[in-house]
Amino acid sequence: GSIFSTLPETPLDEPFAVNGAYKQDCNAQKVNLGIGVYRTSEGAAWPLRVVEETEKQIYETGDVNRHEYLAIQGDQEFLTLASGLVFGFGEDKDSEPSMTEQQRQRVVSIQTVSGTGANRLGAELLARNVRPGCVWIPDPTWANHYTIWDLAGVPKKGYPYYDATYKTFDFEGTFRTLSTSAKANDVVILHACAHNPTGADPTQEQWKMLAQLCKEKGIIPFFDLAYQGFASGDAKKDAWAIRYFFQELHEVEFCVAQSFSKNFGLYGQRVGALHVALSSTATNDTASKLHANLCHLVRGEYSMAPRGGAEIVKTVLGNEHLRNKWQEDLTTMSQRIQLMRNALFNELIKLGTPGDWKHVINQASCFIGMFTYIGLTENQVHAMTERHHIYLLKSGRISISGLNEKNVRYVAMAIDDVIR
Ligand code: PLP
Repeated sequence: GSIFSTLPETPLDEPFAVNGAYKQDCNAQKVNLGIGVYRTSEGAAWPLRVVEETEKQIYETGDVNRHEYLAIQGDQEFLTLASGLVFGFGEDKDSEPSMTEQQRQRVVSIQTVSGTGANRLGAELLARNVRPGCVWIPDPTWANHYTIWDLAGVPKKGYPYYDATYKTFDFEGTFRTLSTSAKANDVVILHACAHNPTGADPTQEQWKMLAQLCKEKGIIPFFDLAYQGFASGDAKKDAWAIRYFFQELHEVEFCVAQSFSKNFGLYGQRVGALHVALSSTATNDTASKLHANLCHLVRGEYSMAPRGGAEIVKTVLGNEHLRNKWQEDLTTMSQRIQLMRNALFNELIKLGTPGDWKHVINQASCFIGMFTYIGLTENQVHAMTERHHIYLLKSGRISISGLNEKNVRYVAMAIDDVIR
């Protein structure tokens, strides 16, 4: 016997399970549309060119401190640059330095174990200190949101995010649910851009109405920002919603879980940050206590986030030349994805595949990012894998970056086959 013999069964993590099944498949035509990672037009992993250049540069400096401990909150310079990227501090050259400084002071930032760790730390902070009645999670969402808030012990409720008939963000459903049922101090998870898994985002007008709703009802927004710059190719555009909440609603306090996995291609390095935006009337004392509490949680959990990847991001964001190169890499990635959205759409139209496929392409920039809900049933998804060796999630989510010139027609034909 064992003290662990009565452990409960845990659910498989679907993206990683699908990825494992793909790797084991020996068929030459297999296609991986499961996991959310960038792939080149050859289907290969891609260390960003700017990252390769920066890695060499860092290594060549031979800094003897490079493996020392970071502070508990992480690398302060990294955090200043990371929060600047989210909130746009200092981007507006006309704004008064003192104004920028005031704005900076409204944000408390901690380095985390990537976006997942930021979500987790934020959930733990709120669960322990604010004790929300519940967390409103978009249905559907990145499945890890359920696990994270489960572990934090906060009751979970869903809001209807996706309108399957019109294949859009269900603004009416979301607004109705939150306005009738959400209470003060409830948390609402919002994907800041490029919603995973649907690829459907609110419009700016809809964001404004959601912001107003959070303010009126005292709901605590929790932004998950995993695709800044990766989604549209423009980091500022992808942070629009967060910057709007910050600049227009001075009294709404909220969290941002920032990931550098996708926009720097640093998946395994675990680079991220949690930012907590405080109300403009919060005192410095509150900000320091918040900072101390976050450090306390981090210390007891893993002492501090890892150093290597954050060093790369810090070096790039802090140097104009490297930052421009990063922009070129973001453009390369986001354009290839957009190209593949269009290619898949065109192939489906050419085949006359039954159904409406407009949602696959970027309509009024509301379909964006790595993922799309292709609109297949679970049986059809099963047939895609069994008959055609194409791997995707049961929900019909496909990762566009798994497509390339060589396999897009094959994938379209498979979709056509399982639908007819
Ligand atoms: N949030 C969303 C919506 C995601 O899609 C992801 C990654 O797929 C993450 C957070 C966190 O990823 P990571 O922990 O690698 O930063």
